Amino acid sequence: MRRQYNENYDYGKTSGRWLNIIFIKSMMDFTYCMELAFREAIKAFERKEVPVGAVVLDSNGHVIGRGYNQVEALCDATAHAEMIALTSAMATIGSKYLNDCTLAVTLEPCPMCAGAIVNAKVGRVIFGAYDPKMGASGTVMNVTACRQLNHQPEVFGGIMENKCSALIQDFFREIREKSSQ
Ligand SMILES: [Zn+2]
Repeated sequence: MRRQYNENYDYGKTSGRWLNIIFIKSMMDFTYCMELAFREAIKAFERKEVPVGAVVLDSNGHVIGRGYNQVEALCDATAHAEMIALTSAMATIGSKYLNDCTLAVTLEPCPMCAGAIVNAKVGRVIFGAYDPKMGASGTVMNVTACRQLNHQPEVFGGIMENKCSALIQDFFREIREKSSQ
């Protein structure tokens, strides 16, 4: 029997529903990735570092690199969470490029980290809080979307934004309260 036209219509509806499911799934994955990055940020918080955390996941969702801000501990202004997570991920897979990987970080990357993301050809970046002072994924400047550079990752900002920025605000509030005592 030949297929009827209305069957095609049903198929169209089904594929629409599947698209929705895929969309919802990827949103849940973003939250999952950010929860992992948030756990790293907590480690920084506990060590009295500005609480920023990052993880790198491969295309199967396995964590291949993680890092948290260690600027104070290492006395190194370049020891941002993303730099540590990226270096760790490249060492794990033995590749200088991370095309199929996702970097999740709790704060918008600064110009240095955005530059490292471009150099490592990271496939996708998701970040939590926007950074009005140093943000280089659209807030102060946009290194990750710069067409003159040789790579542009996909970027999604504002994932778990409130939770990520509240942690940083809590950290600076504690510092202010201690210094005023
Ligand atoms: Zn940075």
